[in-house]
Amino acid sequence: MSTSEKAKLNLSKKQTEYIRDAEPFLWINPSYGSEATTFADVGLIFDADARLRRFSPVLISLFPELKETNGLIESTLDEVSLLRGELLLGELPHGEVALEKLNQAGGRLFIKSDHNLPVAGSIKARGGIHEVLHFAESLALKVGIIESTNSDYHAFLSEPAKSVFAQYTIAVGSTGNLGLSIGIIGAALGFNAVVHMSSDAKKWKKDRLRKRGVQVVEHTADYGAAVEAGRVQSEADPYSYFVDDERSSHLFMGYAVAALRLKEQLENAEISVDKDHPLFVYLPAGVGGAPGGITFGLKSVFGDHVHCFFAEPVQAPCMLLGMAGQPNSAPTPVYDFGLSIDTDADGLAVGTASQWVCDVTRHMVSGVYTQRDAVLYRDLEKLKRLQGIEVEPSAAISCSGLQMLNTNSGQTYLKHHGLLEKMGNSTHIAWLTGGAFVPAEEYEKYLQAVSFK
Ligand SMILES: *Cc1c(COP(=O)(O)O)cnc(C)c1O
Repeated sequence: MSTSEKAKLNLSKKQTEYIRDAEPFLWINPSYGSEATTFADVGLIFDADARLRRFSPVLISLFPELKETNGLIESTLDEVSLLRGELLLGELPHGEVALEKLNQAGGRLFIKSDHNLPVAGSIKARGGIHEVLHFAESLALKVGIIESTNSDYHAFLSEPAKSVFAQYTIAVGSTGNLGLSIGIIGAALGFNAVVHMSSDAKKWKKDRLRKRGVQVVEHTADYGAAVEAGRVQSEADPYSYFVDDERSSHLFMGYAVAALRLKEQLENAEISVDKDHPLFVYLPAGVGGAPGGITFGLKSVFGDHVHCFFAEPVQAPCMLLGMAGQPNSAPTPVYDFGLSIDTDADGLAVGTASQWVCDVTRHMVSGVYTQRDAVLYRDLEKLKRLQGIEVEPSAAISCSGLQMLNTNSGQTYLKHHGLLEKMGNSTHIAWLTGGAFVPAEEYEKYLQAVSFK
């Protein structure tokens, strides 16, 4: 990488070394809050929520497990006190010593249980299903399956609808979970679904899709290449719709709906979020859509009182590089730092961030931390042993956020925003992003990996 390119990144010399050496650290985003957050598009979050609600009778018919939640695809918010206790005992990177302040009065730790999201088993259920429903709805309005968004949506389950949808293909490029989400809902509605899988995609994810009649195209290259291949193939076919994970506002808004639902859950649990009660949210990041959309939603709902941190494997810090870059310029690929996206967190194994997401959320994200796979496995095991929760490695990365706030850079952030004395009243949410569909023998391997890493 040339010097002029490096100069464009908001990284100190030390931070540049950490990235190159694949050392974990917390990067505080200098662009955070530098522009008044504009909420011009907030209406789109409500549109997305309304769309998901319109489809609820259809979703109940297709997925009877949604009866309990009246057709909403949502997860619970659960307190994990035992986990909190052990996490705060963990070692900090670079021999830093934890400040006692946070240890003693660090507030409460919750998990957002998206690892249990019905239908798709991961956070991708939020964005992916919303985008497919958006496409199905537009098509249905165009061909007259429904007359308006006030029509009876049972029409989506009719034979005429199925025969129209069967003429169309929905395609996507994925490291695994987005493919599961799009493939499952696409096939259930009667579309042909084609998923372009990157080399990191797990075999069980491909098998699961094929069993559901989804066409899986395997690529030997990384996620970006799988997306590109899908895009090219899809664009050549007028009956093909491509879900573009790198720049889709429909995916993004589907993710953002989580914020409206979380607000309600916090209220039900009588947890305040205001200037004396800060909320900290730790979000695993791949290409950026899911954590970006959720951050966008949370900032619209809670403004300055919510602090969103992204989490990435040390081998794939693509959002960190994207956020540290300049507005309206292509994000730097992790390969420029000699990294190889070699991580077991397949949902986060992305080499280059979405420029679109970086540009939309650059002022909203407080920081990004990186973590070694060994720590992901350590926390995956803690979740199981202390709380009986089974997740995939990508999700476990959210557990170390609380600890990363205890580093020098985390403490500087808290001090700078006048938060140190409010930590006793703080709420922390580790966003567990996936895991429900992991086969038992696969999960067993994760647990065994703990001792080897
Ligand atoms: C996709 C995924 C993420 C990150 O979402 P992006 O939109 O790629 O940033 C996090 N966790 C899991 C389990 C995922 O599948």
